[in-house]
Amino acid sequence: MEKLGLGLLEQLEQAGYEAYFVGGYVRDKYLGKPVKDIDIATSARPEEVVKLFTRTIPTGLKHGTVTVLAEGETFEVTTFRKESDYADFRRPDEVEFISELEEDLRRRDFTMNAMAMDKNGVIRDPFGGKDDLQAGLLRCVGDPAERFREDALRMLRCVRFAAVYGLAVDEATWQAVLERRELLLHVAMERVRVELERMMAGPHPVEGWRLLAASGLLAFTKEALDWPYSAAEGCALPAELGTLAALEDAGQRWILLLLTAGMDAKRSRELLRKLTFSLKDLERFARAAEFHQWASETEWTADMARKCNGLEACSAAEAWQLAALQIGVEAASDWLAVMEALERQDYPAAPGLRLPVDQGREWLNGLKVRELKELALTGGELIAASGRSAGPWVGAAMSRLLRLAAVGRVANIKQELLEAALKAEGGA
Ligand code: ATP
Ligand code: MG
Repeated sequence: MEKLGLGLLEQLEQAGYEAYFVGGYVRDKYLGKPVKDIDIATSARPEEVVKLFTRTIPTGLKHGTVTVLAEGETFEVTTFRKESDYADFRRPDEVEFISELEEDLRRRDFTMNAMAMDKNGVIRDPFGGKDDLQAGLLRCVGDPAERFREDALRMLRCVRFAAVYGLAVDEATWQAVLERRELLLHVAMERVRVELERMMAGPHPVEGWRLLAASGLLAFTKEALDWPYSAAEGCALPAELGTLAALEDAGQRWILLLLTAGMDAKRSRELLRKLTFSLKDLERFARAAEFHQWASETEWTADMARKCNGLEACSAAEAWQLAALQIGVEAASDWLAVMEALERQDYPAAPGLRLPVDQGREWLNGLKVRELKELALTGGELIAASGRSAGPWVGAAMSRLLRLAAVGRVANIKQELLEAALKAEGGA
């Protein structure tokens, strides 16, 4: 990809324009980190960029951005530009194309993001990005309060970059976050989520939450978030959060975050919905809260059978699905698979997710039947006795019987199982 990028710089230069790598690419390259994507800034106008390359997508012509495709890779090529009048605290009203690289770098958010690299690898760094990186500092380009007034999203980017790159926030920049935090009101919730997700997926998520807690930023989101981490006066982080980074799966990190915040399923759902999480993530995270609440309130003794049966009517399947997620059993369809995984202990222990494993194992050992083949009734016998033809109903009925027999609600005797099944089918 980098070779292709160099080719692009050369082509632009041969056509008489200036062209540089900019933004995250230069920053990550300087830090010796793996690079994700390549952004190029050029003095060529968008229409000139379109003319120069065979395959282009007019991504944001008005803002000067053309995506250039080369051998399956994509490159964002953006004309040097200046921005003016940020009336909505988020997007510039107008952009003006210019011919000066330095002016283009000046509009960028942080010094480490305001460096350019030419085709020979020489870095242009008019705002001291390299020095700041060396000192471990995240600093705005220019007057921080002004920069956050122009675009309030930058405050969240500030927290995210500090957390992902393990940087301290420069004093003046931090003061400006505190001064301008109310402007977060103007940022779409989706953008808030994207920044939080990146922060959470990075190597120092707890540091990110510490900064958010210290700044009180999340008290000023467009939609009010109801949880401890959005207190304007700041909040203390629970000690269990310290293990966040030990979880590899970002989804599990969110689950742990919700649990340590004491969020039940209903509040979790509401919070995640406001943050525009996908329905899939939302259900996964919120159900974990649900399951955890249930599991920690349930005494896993002989009495468990009764409780589990009570749950069966509503959400036992879901609850076990969740346990499966939490302990990393893929697609376990019911609690037997989950309990067996617990028994084998072949799951990554998720700190903070306090499943009552020992009690669960004891309970599992006490089950009367664990597998379909141990049932005193086969699917074939059920079909024959029912007079119906085979279909998906058989599997469902059999696994229901297995549950009932396992916890002793129906004796594992052919006749009784048949009666229980036919009664249920008749009633359905
Ligand atoms: P990453 O891709 O790792 O999130 P990045 O620095 O490449 O980091 P992008 O959002 O891809 O971030 O933006 C590319 C560059 O555009 C940034 O490095 C920065 O120079 C500039 N930039 C992006 N968003 C803003 C913003 N809200 N305000 C000012 N400059 C910005
Ligand atoms: Mg980028």
